[in-house]
Order: sequence, then C-alpha cells, then structure tokens
Amino acid sequence: MSESQKQSATQDTPPKKIVVITTGGTIACTAGRDGALLPTVAGADLLAPVAARFDAADVSFDVRELNRLDSSSMTFADIDEIRRAVEEALADPEVTGVVVTHGTDSMEETAVALDTFHTDDRPVVLTGAQHPHDHPDADGPLNLLDAINVVTSPTARGIGVLIVFGRAVLPARGAVKWHTSDELAFATNAPEEPTRADPVPAVDLADVVVHIIHAYPGAPRDLVDSARAAGADGLVIEAMGSGNIGTGLAAGVGDALRDGVPVVISTRVPRGEVCGSYGGAGGGATLNSLGAVGSTYFRSGQARVLLAIALASGRHPATLF
Ligand code: ASP
Repeated sequence: MSESQKQSATQDTPPKKIVVITTGGTIACTAGRDGALLPTVAGADLLAPVAARFDAADVSFDVRELNRLDSSSMTFADIDEIRRAVEEALADPEVTGVVVTHGTDSMEETAVALDTFHTDDRPVVLTGAQHPHDHPDADGPLNLLDAINVVTSPTARGIGVLIVFGRAVLPARGAVKWHTSDELAFATNAPEEPTRADPVPAVDLADVVVHIIHAYPGAPRDLVDSARAAGADGLVIEAMGSGNIGTGLAAGVGDALRDGVPVVISTRVPRGEVCGSYGGAGGGATLNSLGAVGSTYFRSGQARVLLAIALASGRHPATLF
C-alpha cells in the first residue's frame, strides 16, 4: 500500500468509540486528612490522562459518571443501574465497547450480573485499582489503559464480560477477589474457557432478597430460620469442603427446601468445584437429594447474584451455574 493509500484508509475508518462508565472504588479515591480513602475523583478526571495516550483519530471517548461509591456498599439496585447504563451505551451501534470502573470489593458480583444479561458481541470490561488515585504507585491508570486496549481489540468480541486488572484478563464467570492489596487483585476458579449460560433477558434484582450463610462447624439452624424470617427468597450456604454442612444447619436447610425456598451450596474453600459426594445429615449428596443446587466453580458472592437472577427471571437456578 502506498503512503497516500495508507493515509486515506486511516481517514476513512471512523475512530473506535468507547464509553467509560465510572462508579467509584479505590481507582477514584483520594486520602482525606485522616488518611481514610473516599471516592472523590470525577469520571472525566480519571479518564483524561489515559485518553490522552490515544490518537483522537483512532479512539474517541464518552465518559458517563454514574456514581462515586465504595463497592462494598453496593446493592442489587446499584447493579441494576450499572446494567441499564451499559445497555444504554450499547444501544448506540457506533459504540465499540464499554469499560466500567468499579471498586474491587464487589466487582465480581457486578461482573457476573452484567455477563449473565449480556447479549451483545461487543465487549464490556470492568476494571479498578488497589492503590488510590493520589498514591505514588497508583495502578488505576495502567488498569484503565489495559481495559481500553482490550475493549478495542477484535479478539474481545463475543466472549462476554471481562475483568481486566493487574495485567490479567479474566472472564467474569468464576472471578474472585483473591488478594486484599496485591496489584493482581483477582483470580479465577473457572475452567479455562467457561461455558456461558444462554443470556437472560434483562430483569431488575433490586427487590430480590438472597442471603449468604456461612456454615462453620457447629453452625445452628437458627441462621437459616432467621434469614427466612427476614424475608429471604433464596439462600446461599457457604459450606465446608466440597459442599458439606453440620447437622443443625442441615435441619434448617432441609426445611427451607421442603418449603420451596431455593438453596445453593457454595464452599469456603478457595479452589475446586462443589460436588455432592457425602451422605449423612449435612453431606453434599444428602443436600442435593433434597433439592439443593451445587454452585460448581462459583463462590458465594457470584452464586448469590446468579440465584437472584434465577429468582427474578423465573428460571431454575441450576440453569445458570
Ligand atoms: N473498598 C474499595 C471498593 O470496593 C476497594 C477497591 O476499590 O479496591 O470500592
């Protein structure tokens, strides 16, 4: 191709259009006088230094500041709002993809929700930071740059929602925050190419109540009974080992299942899948025979979101795991 042909090819290709939705998190935090971190940085200010690294003829940006939240305070209503913002962004056919900046504490929950509803081939990538914006080693700008590079890459199309963080690119399904401070904040417990369930038509989660109960040895059934009394529509049990719980809790779980309350069994073990192998009152095989659903490779946070989506959309929970 001659120089003039190359030039006219560049001129004919419109810039890739990236929507950046900002929601808060450490990436947007600065330290106050007492040293405590709060999300204070506007979306436009987060993006500006990173956007400056791209040629405007190649990539254009539209930043939408949705919120300035610590993600540990997010509710299902906040996830609904982020989902709607992503849908709105992708309603524009000229948009190449979407980056969502988000706190790390509950990024895995938002990511799996967006992925479960995602019907579009265009990529959605979540990113954030472990160090705040005003830290000398702030990792947010590089994470945001990597997220934008992934979103503009044709290889990111058709593979669902991703977390790009600490130089790693992870599918949303199975991702877990695994380090409280390391720049490689996320790991995955999923198989190499996790199968995605058929996307679920968008539905709000704000009114769904799913509680997670930690099944420590000797945990009493009262934990299940009080969750039900508090209005739980479904329960996730963070079991021991491959998915086993003690006798007391098992009695409460059995009653919940008999009364039609769906129960998903996850585990407190970081790696491997849940499998119902054991008999006895709280063994995984017994819980399965009563109708509990194993969370496969998902851990409790994402299992809770998937169960909520199943409840809100009228699907059997097993179809989403
Ligand atoms: N607490 C912060 C949040 O989740 C942590 C972070 O972003 O890394 O919003």
